[in-house]
Amino acid sequence: MKKNLVVIGYGGMGTWHTQHALKSDVVNLAGVYDINPEKNKLAEERGIFAYDSYEAVLADEKVDLITVAIPNDSHKEVVIRALEAGKNVICEKPVSMDSAELDEMIAASEKSGKLFSVHQNRRFDVDFLAMKQIKQSGELGELINIESRIHGSRGIPSDWRGEKEHGGGMLLDWGVHLIDQILFMMPSAKIKSVYADIKNVLHEEVDDYFKIILKMDNGITAHIELSTYILEYQPRWLVAGDKGTLIVKNFGCEGNIYRTGKMLEKLPPQITETEAGPTRQFAPVPPGGIITEKLPEIETDWVDFYRNVIDVLNGRAESLIKISEVRRVLAVMQAAWESANTNKAILFE
Ligand code: NAD
Repeated sequence: MKKNLVVIGYGGMGTWHTQHALKSDVVNLAGVYDINPEKNKLAEERGIFAYDSYEAVLADEKVDLITVAIPNDSHKEVVIRALEAGKNVICEKPVSMDSAELDEMIAASEKSGKLFSVHQNRRFDVDFLAMKQIKQSGELGELINIESRIHGSRGIPSDWRGEKEHGGGMLLDWGVHLIDQILFMMPSAKIKSVYADIKNVLHEEVDDYFKIILKMDNGITAHIELSTYILEYQPRWLVAGDKGTLIVKNFGCEGNIYRTGKMLEKLPPQITETEAGPTRQFAPVPPGGIITEKLPEIETDWVDFYRNVIDVLNGRAESLIKISEVRRVLAVMQAAWESANTNKAILFE
């Protein structure tokens, strides 16, 4: 049987949740509630029931599940109230402003015995899934680096994302996704250290650039970089192994796997003249020296997140997004801030 969902916050992401709920085979959209009456009016114009208060949502016995899609600084209070009212809760990312807030939310969920999950939806992105599949296949050999980059050129949107008190800044906004993707791929690897550079390029109040270097005990180093002001974008993913290289150019998953061709293996060492002078290591590779292969075709559906939540509620599956994983991501984000502030790598045990 479908579960009844209410979405709290009918802004950009709240609207997204309602659209996915409306076409979902697992939830009914029972309604929305936004603190701004204009947003509730807009929902009703679109044929969606709008509650006139949060209390009314919590008092409605038919509501099984609440998705919280409001600015980051308000997540904790709204989530805890829902859990205390006996509702199952999905919270938007970043789950909270820091680990201390998350601990309070976890305590409330344990007390209530209700589901508490976080919408880490970028685990379902096609570019990420293609990269993860190639990593797991072993075809790149032993991995050395995974470089995850997002470059934009439009700065930070002029809303609460530019305000510190509401949890603005790009580390909280996108860093949480990018770190989550890296750690999700390596659940059993331990973090050795975190080094970060966090900057204000165009925005004075909140961070709009970061680079994080995350060393894992499996020998892989993740380089995570985000900028909102780079005018020629670098690839979304670059993965370097000892048997090949992977480039995924963009969210649309254009890219290739590159491998050494037989010809290159047989080439004797030779000095080649280049514009930079004679070099053995960095001369251009002759035609046929490198083989180019296509990326796998990936099918993905963001509604799978809701399908999994409902399976968990029906006792048929484990949660795809574990709160322990969400907590690990927050710990890395906090280490990144500490590293940027102290100019030191933060060592993990
Ligand atoms: P938004 O500003 O577009 O919308 C937020 C809405 O929440 C507004 O309509 C506002 O009136 C309402 N609101 C504020 N406080 C409220 C309260 N206490 N009760 C009810 N309504 C309240 O912001 P957004 O872009 O939709 O972001 C909302 C959340 O979703 C943030 O946590 C953000 O990080 C997250 N988000 C996630 C993704 C993703 O890919 N998972 C993408 C975008 C945003």
